[in-house]
Amino acid sequence: MKPQRIEIFGVPVDCITMDEAVDFAESMVKGQHACAILAVNPEKVVRAQQDKSLLAQLRNTVLVIPDGIGVVFAARFLGFSCTERVPGSELMPLLCQRAALKGYRVFLFGASPDVILRTVQVLQQRFTGLKIVGAQHGYVKEDDMPAMISKINAAQADLLFVALGSPKQEVWIARYLPELKVKVCQGVGGTFDVIAGRVKRAPLLFRAIHLEWFYRLLSQPSRIFRQTALPMFAYQVLKSKFTRRSVQQPTFSVPTASVSRSRSDSGKSDHQSEKAA
Ligand code: UDP
Repeated sequence: MKPQRIEIFGVPVDCITMDEAVDFAESMVKGQHACAILAVNPEKVVRAQQDKSLLAQLRNTVLVIPDGIGVVFAARFLGFSCTERVPGSELMPLLCQRAALKGYRVFLFGASPDVILRTVQVLQQRFTGLKIVGAQHGYVKEDDMPAMISKINAAQADLLFVALGSPKQEVWIARYLPELKVKVCQGVGGTFDVIAGRVKRAPLLFRAIHLEWFYRLLSQPSRIFRQTALPMFAYQVLKSKFTRRSVQQPTFSVPTASVSRSRSDSGKSDHQSEKAA
């Protein structure tokens, strides 16, 4: 199922439920090319408006999940039918569960050496039979990256989870995805730290009232500088609601299994071409 893609201030977001996202990601595993899954929150919407390469990357990304509740609320407020939040940190374990069930091969890249080790242990305990075919901490020197890419490709991983934090992981994915033979590459931020138990998720009460971001801010005050994008985002949403500018109905369809639409000059994504063939 192809999710409905909307734009918030020109930044794409796919309106999709968590169940649909898991199924859609699985359809990517069966595709021919490496596809990315990236998350969008208010901070990234603000950044992408100033960073043309990030914006271009998001537009060419097969699945852009509405990670932050701010994005979901903004979409609804502006008249789109975005139903739910799809946090990357929750999608990743569900994809591991599906991988364990179907035998897909998983590679983990990112976080500190002790966190990545613990993440492997926890995932293997949680999902019996999960094939983790490789794991690498996220402090690899640029000179060693070609060897790292070869390692991932040699492991024949289907799913690669990249936990370098934002924007580092987006830059890494844009740079290396064309060289990767994986099928799905998801940027997962600080998810390994949560899985390894080094960072606590917000208590259920905070999550239920959509204040997980606030809990994170309280527990990691150094994030305050990142959160300065929030008032800017709220201001933009309110302004556009009342001026009815800057927010558009979808102007393009979702690329379905090719990260870069430029791979196909036909105007169809590779996946669409495959389907048509
Ligand atoms: N990280 C990494 N390599 C780097 C920089 C960061 O592997 O060069 C990891 C870091 O150890 C942490 C994650 O990236 O596990 C960043 O987590 P954060 O919560 O800041 O990410 P966010 O989800 O907020 O983007």
